[in-house]
Amino acid sequence: KAKHIGKDRYEMFATGMREPVVQRLQIESDLRRGLKDSEFQLFYQPIVSLKTGKIAGVEALVRWNSLKRGFISPGDFIPIAEETGLIIPLGEWILQEACRQMQEWHLQFPQNPPLMISVNLSSRQFSQPNLVQQVQFILDKINLDRKSLKLEITESMMMNDVEAAIELLKRLKDLGLRLSIDDFGTGYSNLSYLHRFPVDTLKVDQSFVRRMNSGESHDRYAQIVRTVIMLGHNLELDVIAEGIETEEQMKILQSLGCEYGQGYFFAKPLPSEQLAALLAKNPKW
Ligand code: C2E
Ligand code: MG
Ligand code: MG
Ligand code: MG
Repeated sequence: KAKHIGKDRYEMFATGMREPVVQRLQIESDLRRGLKDSEFQLFYQPIVSLKTGKIAGVEALVRWNSLKRGFISPGDFIPIAEETGLIIPLGEWILQEACRQMQEWHLQFPQNPPLMISVNLSSRQFSQPNLVQQVQFILDKINLDRKSLKLEITESMMMNDVEAAIELLKRLKDLGLRLSIDDFGTGYSNLSYLHRFPVDTLKVDQSFVRRMNSGESHDRYAQIVRTVIMLGHNLELDVIAEGIETEEQMKILQSLGCEYGQGYFFAKPLPSEQLAALLAKNPKW
């Protein structure tokens, strides 16, 4: 089921955009109430080192467990939260909760280097004038080792005003955190800017990864992934492959020198207690 949802993500975005006004207003007021009533929860999906097979970090992925509507996936409510501006308080809560949780896990599961926490930023958050202050405020409040926080942004978020985006990324980096380009290869890629983005990581989009069948030269998706990994390495970035569902895909990525992997093959996004149990088991893939 979850797999199905993941694959139809873009379709649902499109459907969401066409919701009738009244229905959207209803969702908006439900979102507002959900925020007040703590109906949101963070799930965490492991990011695994393909060199050691150990968990190197996690990505925080928000879930909405609505009393009224049941379980709603982010593809269905993030766009509405974006349009209504509710993503600002929601995003603030997500960042704070993710940092708080990781600080706790650092004490519980110390390792070297420490576990990383990745948090997605939405485009509305990215264009919010006091984003840097907001992140700084949370980092001052939660005593998390700053380089253990990684913010995920997409290329399309930066393309409105590239120079302003580069400035903003630099100011975020100056806080001591790290940056990652999410869903790389799907958005408005502009390769001529890529080397100027002060980012640390590229995440190869899952649409390429899950279509790889073999590492052979006739396997077009494997060739795309190989090229993205080379591009990342030439720019001295680490590469994370998203959407790894099979052992074969993992092995291909290992052979291509990809540093990290994420996907159902390792684990689905899990509630914090289940993720903690996984960390306690200290699994190796
Ligand atoms: P994303 O940041 O690219 O997150 C990866 C998505 O792929 C997640 O979907 C995850 O559950 C799914 N996934 C991971 N491994 C696999 C796999 O092996 N196969 C398949 N088919 N799917 C896999 P999710 O949690 O539904 O999130 C969808 C998108 O919603 C995210 O894409 C992100 O853009 C957005 N999102 C999620 N959480 C947040 C959040 O806290 N804040 C913001 N602004 N956006 C979020
Ligand atoms: Mg992400
Ligand atoms: Mg992604
Ligand atoms: Mg995404």
